[in-house]
Amino acid sequence: MTSENPSLRPWRDIERRQSRQIMVGDVPVGGDAPITVQTMTNTPTSDAGATIDQIRRCEDAGVDIIRVSCPDVESTSALKQIVRASRVPIVADIHFHYKRGIEAAEAGAACLRINPGNIGSSARVKEVVDAAKSNGCAIRIGVNAGSLEKDLLEKYGEPCPEALVESALDHIKILQDHDFHEFKVAVKASDVFLAVAAYSQLADAVDCPLHLGITEAGGLIGGTVKSSIGMGNLLWAGIGDTIRVSLSAEPEEEVRVGYEMLKALGLRTRGVRVVSCPSCARQGFDVIRTVQTLEERLQHIRTPLSLSVLGCVVNGPGEARETDIGITGGGKGKHMVYLSGVTDHHVEDGDMVDHIVKLVEAKAAEIEAAEDQVEAAE
Ligand code: SF4
Repeated sequence: MTSENPSLRPWRDIERRQSRQIMVGDVPVGGDAPITVQTMTNTPTSDAGATIDQIRRCEDAGVDIIRVSCPDVESTSALKQIVRASRVPIVADIHFHYKRGIEAAEAGAACLRINPGNIGSSARVKEVVDAAKSNGCAIRIGVNAGSLEKDLLEKYGEPCPEALVESALDHIKILQDHDFHEFKVAVKASDVFLAVAAYSQLADAVDCPLHLGITEAGGLIGGTVKSSIGMGNLLWAGIGDTIRVSLSAEPEEEVRVGYEMLKALGLRTRGVRVVSCPSCARQGFDVIRTVQTLEERLQHIRTPLSLSVLGCVVNGPGEARETDIGITGGGKGKHMVYLSGVTDHHVEDGDMVDHIVKLVEAKAAEIEAAEDQVEAAE
C-alpha cells in the first residue's frame, strides 16, 4: 500500500453504529459523516481577539468544530464577532444560566452545550429551545460523572454507567418533550471503565449522535494514553460521531491527538502519517531528532500520505514498501530514499531533512492535482 486510501482489508474494518445525523452549522455529525474532531478554547471568551487567534491555530491543526465557554454576558457579547471570524462552527458552552444560552443562540452559535435539566423551569427550557430552533442551533447534552444530579447520586450511591445513562435519557426527554431533536449527547467520565461502559449502554439506548470524551484525562502524555484507551475502545467498537480529547495542554494539541487517534483506526485521514522506529545502536542517522523536526516542518501538509523514517535496513525497506515516501539509514552518512515503496536514490546526512520535506510537499501536490482531475472529470 503506497497511499492513504481507505483499505478494503476486512480485518481493518470498523462497522460504525448507525446514528441519526444532525447538523452543527454546516458540519454534519452522525450517520455516515466523518467523525469530527473538536476542541475548546481556553482564552477569556470576552477577549474576542485572543479567542479568534486561538481558533485560527486550531483550524490550522484541522479542528472541525470548536467550543467556547460563555460564563458571562461579556462572553456572549463577544461571541458574535468570534462566530463571524471562525471558519468552523462554534459551540457555546453554557452552565446553568439559561439567558447565556439564548444570547449565544442569537449570536450565531451553531450548537449549545447545555443540559436542559439544569436550567430550571419548563418555561426557561422552552425559551432556550425556542432560541435554538429559531437560530438553527443544535444542542449537545453533556452528562459528566463529576456533576451528576443529586437524586441520581442518591439513587445509585456513586457515579456508575446506569446513572450517567439515566441522566442523559432525562435530559433527552426534556428536549423531545419540546419537540427538539437536533441534539447529540456525551456521557463523560475521567475513569475509562466508567466512560466506556456508559457510552456503550447509551449507544444501545438511543439513536442520536454521540460526542465522545474522557473528561479531565490529564496532561499531554498521560491524557493522550488514557483518552486513546477509552475513546479508542469505543471508536473501535463503532461508537462515536464526534470526539474531543481533553488534555491539560493547548487546544491545538488536543486536535492533533484527536486526529492521530482517528488516523490510527483508519477513521479519518489528514496530513502525514509517520511510521518511524525508536532507533537503536544500528541507526544510520539520529532518528529521534529527525522525526521531531520532520513532524514540525510537515504540520502544514493536509493531504493524507505516509512517510517511513527508519534508522537502518533491519526494518527500513519493509516499512518503506508500505509508505509513499521512505528513508532508511545507511552507512557513512548516506541513506536510501524510497518512492512509492521502491528504492529510488541516496541522500546525504546534511541534506536529508530538507530533501524529505521537499519530497513530501511534491507528493502532496501530486495527490491533490490527481484528485482535482478526478473531480473535474466527474
Ligand atoms: S530500524 Fe534499525 S535503527 Fe531502527 S530500531 Fe530497528 S534496528 Fe534499530
